[in-house]
Amino acid sequence: MAVSNENKVIIFSAPSGAGKSTIVKHLLGKYPFLEFSISATSRLPRGEEKDGVDYYFFTKEEFKQKIEKGEFVEYEEVYAGSYYGTLKSEVERIWAKGHIILFDIDVKGGINIKRLYGSHALAVFIRPPSVETLKERLVLRGTDSPQAIERRVAKAEEELEYAGMFDRIIVNDSLECALREAEIIVERFYNE
Ligand code: 5GP
Repeated sequence: MAVSNENKVIIFSAPSGAGKSTIVKHLLGKYPFLEFSISATSRLPRGEEKDGVDYYFFTKEEFKQKIEKGEFVEYEEVYAGSYYGTLKSEVERIWAKGHIILFDIDVKGGINIKRLYGSHALAVFIRPPSVETLKERLVLRGTDSPQAIERRVAKAEEELEYAGMFDRIIVNDSLECALREAEIIVERFYNE
């Protein structure tokens, strides 16, 4: 049975360094029916990040109050001391426009959203060809210290074990192929 586009969601999850952000940006630029879900976070803004654009930035206290008030669809302490979550108000805001929500969230959050929305949700896991490639990419990106890279790689190894819980897996070996594959997956879900 066809599901109305008014309440569909697409989830992209991946270990960091798998190329998820590039794929998500590409899809948002190409399909006007997709809208990015702006997450809430308790971490500080980085670089040019703006409140209400990249994230809704809150203090840890504000974030915890929102948890208590039941304002989140899902939330996770993705890194020790840093909370990330999706506000119910954000989901309502995007669905009210008739858009499909595009989530860029961590692996556990992705699984939770999939569980919540069932057949209205398409969960896509982006994986690097190997853990070695992932490490190389993080080193080349140059934004993390060697210790932070080790932490991210360890987390990635753990996250890769959840890949089987997603509807689709895209192996990001060649970016061009990964983008094309992502487009096909999105178009098919849109037309379902
Ligand atoms: P960063 O601090 O690099 O922007 O994001 C760190 C991680 O948090 C990324 O893996 C990102 O996908 C994840 N993340 C962002 N928003 C959410 C969210 O709303 N919920 C969950 N569970 N994870 C999120």
